[in-house]
Amino acid sequence: MHDSLPTAARAALLGLAVGDALGVPVEFLSRVARRQDPVTGMRAYGTHRQPAGTWSDDSSLTFCLAETLAQPGGRNGMPDLVDFAQRSINWLYQSYWTATGETFDVGNATRTAIGRLQRGIEPIKAGPNSESDNGNGALMRILPLAFHEIWRAENLDLSAAWALTEAVASVTHGHPRSTLGCFLYLLVARGLLVGLAPAEAYHQARAEGYNWLQTFAKGPIFYEWPKYGAVLHGTLPDRPESAISSSGYVVDTLEAALWCLLRHDTYAATVLAAVNLGDDTDTTGAVAGGLAGLAYGEAAIPAEWLAVLARRADVEDLAARLAQPS
Ligand SMILES: [Mg+2]
Repeated sequence: MHDSLPTAARAALLGLAVGDALGVPVEFLSRVARRQDPVTGMRAYGTHRQPAGTWSDDSSLTFCLAETLAQPGGRNGMPDLVDFAQRSINWLYQSYWTATGETFDVGNATRTAIGRLQRGIEPIKAGPNSESDNGNGALMRILPLAFHEIWRAENLDLSAAWALTEAVASVTHGHPRSTLGCFLYLLVARGLLVGLAPAEAYHQARAEGYNWLQTFAKGPIFYEWPKYGAVLHGTLPDRPESAISSSGYVVDTLEAALWCLLRHDTYAATVLAAVNLGDDTDTTGAVAGGLAGLAYGEAAIPAEWLAVLARRADVEDLAARLAQPS
């Protein structure tokens, strides 16, 4: 249990950025390569030729969303999606909220969506929405919504939480499969935020998510739930590693991150397991790292990793603003 909302917000944002930064140097490299040369800490250079501690698009867009939610009234009702759109445009074209002044590692749907935003398309209509547009680019940046009043309410209104999540996800990813991945992730984050252990948070999330989908979800949303069958039926933690894919597909990323969370019991073991699955290492690390930060707290993040994390003080300042009373 976090003793305050600001400590939880710091743990979430730092945990996500550290997981991202651990994965950046080995992004796109295979699981076989990681078995031969496991990541055990922060590395420099590698895939994107960056200094140790450099985080990527996952953290940048997470921080853009956190900035929007930190605006006055940003955590009550619908956040200002035009504000979030402008911050995303500034990130892609002007290196806003980048680790070292360089924008790198941009996903296809995200690039398309931000181009549309710049041409004046309404934010909720900007994200590509075909079945092939289900990369993990909405999931990787959605965690700050766990600090929104709707997601934090004692009596959670799941339909309101769905509508909020769908609107925010749709700025870059308009297909219901992406929203559902974000929705299930935020259900787990919500449980961790109130102090549940990872296994409890997962089982509560899947039961709540499954009941809501069976009772209230209509049309295209309802038909998406079998895609998350392993998550919703509770069979995920027992899967062998060979059945866990760490690609850039939203379903794979959610499964991989939860699998790591549920099979390990420290922050470090969880994020290193995520990165060492290979392939989309930085996003799997970020998605797992945000949850592991919430689960174990900032004190559990190795000090030597935090010491080299890019813009650590700025991230901590942002977390304080994300958690301030609105
Ligand atoms: Mg990335």
